[in-house]
Amino acid sequence: MAERLVLRTPPPPRADGRFAPSPTGPLHLGNLRTALLSWLFARAAGARFLVRIEDLDVGRVRAEHYEGQLADLAALGLDWDGPVERQSEHTARHAEALARLRRAGLVYECWCTRAEIREAASAPHGAPPGGAYPGTCRELSAAERRAREASGRPPALRVRADAAEVAFTDRLRGPVGGVVDDFVVRRNDGAFAYNLATAVDDAAQGIGEVVRGDDLLDSTPRQLWLLGRLGVAAPAYAHVPLMYGPDGARLAKRHGAVILAERMALGESADEVRAALAASVGLSRPGETPTPATLVERVSALMNLELQHDHA
Ligand code: GLU
Repeated sequence: MAERLVLRTPPPPRADGRFAPSPTGPLHLGNLRTALLSWLFARAAGARFLVRIEDLDVGRVRAEHYEGQLADLAALGLDWDGPVERQSEHTARHAEALARLRRAGLVYECWCTRAEIREAASAPHGAPPGGAYPGTCRELSAAERRAREASGRPPALRVRADAAEVAFTDRLRGPVGGVVDDFVVRRNDGAFAYNLATAVDDAAQGIGEVVRGDDLLDSTPRQLWLLGRLGVAAPAYAHVPLMYGPDGARLAKRHGAVILAERMALGESADEVRAALAASVGLSRPGETPTPATLVERVSALMNLELQHDHA
């Protein structure tokens, strides 16, 4: 069954888009559908489409997936502007953003392990819902701090967000609100954390609209809060539905042929895979294989329709 895309707000004018995969495995159909939609939104707006490789998690990144992911995008007919940026080449701007937050007194050190955070969360009144950090290391006494320093375990860095409430209008989900927890901006292995790196890079690259999977919806209030603290303009956001297997679980390897190479081994062409992805969101009818340009026209029509509603 196709889930129809309903745009709830007009597109920001000529908003540049991006796809920002982590090269930790081949892109599955859900990732490819997100990439297709991100590309379509940007192209329908007559804007640029950038690809950024999010490769900061060195423990999980595999070199062979850089090229494999790009080859899959190209095979589906998705083109991008300018060179592909790798996040690991831009750590200077992540460090600069972190330094600004520190100067503003918005950062503290945290020695908590995952197990400790879990434990605090299961204690009555221990942690706010949604896996938010309970704030254990926020206000340590001098003695508590010394004890943690003596452990030899390097600290992560968290922001002091004061449970700020952030609301925004997602272009597909409508009004969204969230409470920002004291999330990690630098991990205890020294790597800049996802929310910091992504928000800073979206701003630095002039991204006007972030189209991504709705598993990241909870991260968006955090990223908006960060951008606000850094005093830089935030992009618009459109969170697209994830794909699920027949058992209702998030699409994964065990669901069978879920990557492009596997679909092609079954005899499908890349055009047919693109058509199936488009059909799954109501942009194509079963049996037809619209070109990328035709899909761009359909999405522009959808956006114009939305504009007319807006002005009605
Ligand atoms: N790199 C993230 C991922 O592959 C996506 C980041 C984003 O789109 O904001 O899940």
